[in-house]
Amino acid sequence: MAHPKTERTLVIVKPDGIQRALIGEIIKRYERTGLKLVAIKMIIPTEEMIEEHYLLDPDWKKAVGEKAIASYVKKGEKPPSSDPIEVADSVVVSLKKYMSSGPVIAMVWEGGHAVESVRKITGSTEPRSANVGTIRGDFVLDSYQMADNDTRAIRNLIHASGSVSEAEKEIPHWFKPNEIMKYRVPHEATLYNADMRDILG
Ligand code: GDP
Ligand code: MG
Repeated sequence: MAHPKTERTLVIVKPDGIQRALIGEIIKRYERTGLKLVAIKMIIPTEEMIEEHYLLDPDWKKAVGEKAIASYVKKGEKPPSSDPIEVADSVVVSLKKYMSSGPVIAMVWEGGHAVESVRKITGSTEPRSANVGTIRGDFVLDSYQMADNDTRAIRNLIHASGSVSEAEKEIPHWFKPNEIMKYRVPHEATLYNADMRDILG
């Protein structure tokens, strides 16, 4: 198995993140953990790119629908449908509109447990219930209820791969191999080297 320090994850600053002028704040939060930025670009995605992106994982639809329904139930509210696939289908329609509405910034971050670390810093899908201290918890306040009420996607600033296998499919969808940089930064020695004997020369 590859060393966990080589793990990579895809992050996209969604159109609302760019509009809110949060690019620097978002990058800062990932960068300060020691994760390394290895690819970055600004693009206006097409609706096709977005549909393909979300359907790369065949299990995603069922999971997204179930998560939404559970969130309503937990708050004692009625979900728009009890069928997860039906919920997910309308989410896909809304996501295509939302994600292609303006420029986004796509990035690849690399480092120890990159997928898990980035998800932890990003926070859970619904900003209403995302923990304080996470990007989604601190900078935005949308909810399933408000988004579904207005037939739009939840605006939560960021996409971040949900698992290592999702990241492995998503990264090549957004970046060619030669757009991903291989380079070293000095702090990797402190983060990952087996000993720190070089400090005193
Ligand atoms: P993520 O991995 O935390 O981004 O969440 P998912 O992969 O489950 O969903 C993808 C994106 O779809 C989310 O980031 C939201 O923007 C949006 N979304 C997810 N579930 C719902 C929903 O039930 N209703 C609406 N309106 N949008 C949703
Ligand atoms: Mg996801």
